[in-house]
Amino acid sequence: MKVLRTVQEIRDFAGEQKKAGKRIGLVPTMGALHEGHLSLMRAAREKCDVVIASVFVNPTQFGPNEDYDAYPRRFEEDCRLLEGIPVDAVFHPEPSEMYPEGYCTYVQVDGDITNKLCGAQRPGHFRGVATVVTKLINLSRADEAFFGQKDAQQVVVIRRFVEDLNLNVHINMVPIVREESGLARSSRNTYLSPEEKEAACVLSRSLQNAKKAFEGGERDAEALKGLVAKEIQGEPLASIDYVELFSFPALHPMEKVTEDALLAIAVKIGKTRLIDNVILEGGRG
Ligand code: AMP
Repeated sequence: MKVLRTVQEIRDFAGEQKKAGKRIGLVPTMGALHEGHLSLMRAAREKCDVVIASVFVNPTQFGPNEDYDAYPRRFEEDCRLLEGIPVDAVFHPEPSEMYPEGYCTYVQVDGDITNKLCGAQRPGHFRGVATVVTKLINLSRADEAFFGQKDAQQVVVIRRFVEDLNLNVHINMVPIVREESGLARSSRNTYLSPEEKEAACVLSRSLQNAKKAFEGGERDAEALKGLVAKEIQGEPLASIDYVELFSFPALHPMEKVTEDALLAIAVKIGKTRLIDNVILEGGRG
């Protein structure tokens, strides 16, 4: 696996692949890789001739009081996991390579899809995501890019700017990978103590219960959100940031679930903020 650290190196690598007529798949990550990331790598491996992963803790998507400095970094272990897929190249730049002195250009996605959920709670977050993903798509010359449903709003935002900016790449959404306990895999799970990890199962459990109620015929958005909130409130280590339900992928508010809907939550377990979601399909019947 090639390790690419500079803009020039990834440009050269992507250029050679394009010249050879290869279809390039890009999987952006912030590292501390786990099975969730690896499922994206496998999806890319299956669909593309060449897979480029990126491992970059992107400073522009973190708020001033967020965990940029504390975010886990373990590049050597990440490389071993990527070689196991196998991935062809990993792009691992320094922040100064992506944002050199004088840098001042950002991709801002306005409107109804960024003013809610994580967009409302993390000002500037999606501007940072949209900026870095645009740069990564350009540099890698990707035909396909792969993102997790774990960050469903991120997928909606990325699809929006890809269409708006006429980027020539197809965005794939890969299902959420969970531990046996139901806990969605996340690099931030490494912050949790054993006790907190057990408490964190309330996220997936509450969503699954709401999904069961939906499958049993419940269509009222407030009732579905209420079920989730009630269960989380029963867990002493958990505090709710949001429990929300929007149409998917448009992210419009809904009173009754009559089309595909995203039931999404953000919950603090101790000091660690975790997110999870389920998609409620259809809604008719
Ligand atoms: P991150 O390193 O947290 O920025 O995540 C990189 C990519 O992996 C994003 O597209 C995430 O949505 C995806 N991802 C993270 N956790 C999971 C998971 N448990 N299942 C599927 N995809 C995931």
